[in-house]
Amino acid sequence: MKTLRFELAIAQPLTSAWLKERQVEASLLRLDRLHPEISGNKWYKLRYYIDEALAQQKKRIVTYGGAWSNHLLATAACCRYYGLDSLGIIRGELPATPSPTLQRLTALGMELQFVSRERYAEKKNPLAVINEDDYLIEEGGFGEPGVRGAATMLDSVSLDRYTHVVCAAGTGTMMAGLILATAGSQPVIGIPVLKAAAGIEANIKKMVGDSHRNWQLLSGFEWGGYARYSAALLDFMNEFYQDQAIPTDIIYTGKLLYACRQLTQEDFFLPGSNLLIVHSGGLQGNRSLPSGALLFDTLL
Ligand SMILES: *Cc1c(COP(=O)(O)O)cnc(C)c1O
Repeated sequence: MKTLRFELAIAQPLTSAWLKERQVEASLLRLDRLHPEISGNKWYKLRYYIDEALAQQKKRIVTYGGAWSNHLLATAACCRYYGLDSLGIIRGELPATPSPTLQRLTALGMELQFVSRERYAEKKNPLAVINEDDYLIEEGGFGEPGVRGAATMLDSVSLDRYTHVVCAAGTGTMMAGLILATAGSQPVIGIPVLKAAAGIEANIKKMVGDSHRNWQLLSGFEWGGYARYSAALLDFMNEFYQDQAIPTDIIYTGKLLYACRQLTQEDFFLPGSNLLIVHSGGLQGNRSLPSGALLFDTLL
């Protein structure tokens, strides 16, 4: 496995005109450059689960996700690296042509088990035969060790430079970690990428407790829901790439950067602000797009 490139996963100042026009500064924390497969926030969310599985001498990690899941890919690659077996429970039937992500999971040695969307959503019955050698990780790395790991995303950042930390929110695990890491020193702004802000908010409250209140979810940038998008979002991602030579993904970071531009233009971020925007990775998800939709390749 390629090593994790921590030296590349650093805050990069943005020079976009939409920032300059409003006298707002911003840096993008390039966690997308950590590793092509264990990219972005996923390694941070997984690290303490893997430590715990190894400490408990488990043999196999079992976890969940969809056919394009960044979490499953990161888990499969981590397990391979640490010599653990892995089982991925996949939402939906086995497609006639497996997605590139599914193919890659298999190549990395992950065993796949497909369950119907209905059964997956119920989650009442155990979805797989789990035995004592197995270590279970929730979908998306949701849970206390995931939050604790996500908090370490800011270890190498000079936080006091920044007035806001801004990130995408799926389960809210990463955002909860950022809230703990900043400990109120600046507001953490989350952009939900699915239409379930109330659920994300409840997750975060549960994970950070009542003493942390300097955070906010800003809805309205879901583009119709999880993994939904329109041509305007692709246009923005292409523009951002042409302007800054930074690739974004269609599910999380494209929506995040679009929101950052709009919020800057609307004076949500006031002149003099200095944003730390988290590029949480996930570029491989762009392979779900029709070829040619983006001006940049998804490196893998
Ligand atoms: C999984 C993921 C997220 C969402 O993280 P949560 O902790 O579930 O909120 C954000 N960005 C990328 C690129 C991801 O892969």
